[in-house]
Amino acid sequence: MIQPTNGKFEMPTLPYGASDLSPVLSAETMEFHFGKHLQTYVNNLNAALPRSAFEGKSLEEIVKSSDGGVFNNAGQFLNHYMYFVQFKSPVANNIPTGKIADAIARDFGSIEKFQEEFQAKGAGLFGSGWVWLSADSNGKLVITQEGNAQNPLTKGLKPLLTFDVWEHAYYIDYRNRRPDYLKSLWNIVNWDVVNKRFE
Ligand code: MN
Repeated sequence: MIQPTNGKFEMPTLPYGASDLSPVLSAETMEFHFGKHLQTYVNNLNAALPRSAFEGKSLEEIVKSSDGGVFNNAGQFLNHYMYFVQFKSPVANNIPTGKIADAIARDFGSIEKFQEEFQAKGAGLFGSGWVWLSADSNGKLVITQEGNAQNPLTKGLKPLLTFDVWEHAYYIDYRNRRPDYLKSLWNIVNWDVVNKRFE
């Protein structure tokens, strides 16, 4: 659970430097996507909290119980928080490990089939949004497309991994080539983080 400190939410602490995801995500993308887009969602959410029904609640509770502008900023804060902390420096052949690898093979047939479906659902999402890997209440893995600021939490799912498909996520490095961006992201996924979320 992500909790406010003295009534305000803080930006996530990144487990890597601004240039460390290059060439998958450049330092310029980090400067704009993390430093400006995410900061704006955090600022807008913090401005809406004082004397509201959401004051003092966790980010996840706010996402599950809000709508309108509060939901949009809280959802985008949570989505980006989960997105940015799940990465590490690029590794070739960076395949899933541990329990999540076993569950992916069980529920999708193979790592390759899972990645193909995840990329296809990310590439095929019309407009702005997110593609997610989540676990349902029985621990079965599902891939969902979520528009705009939506998060699988609101459907009772446990979110495990997400790729941002808003244009601001890829336009600096990949221009209009969303499928190339999605394919490249596999090289920087920190599967240890995904396994911790899956526990
Ligand atoms: Mn984004």
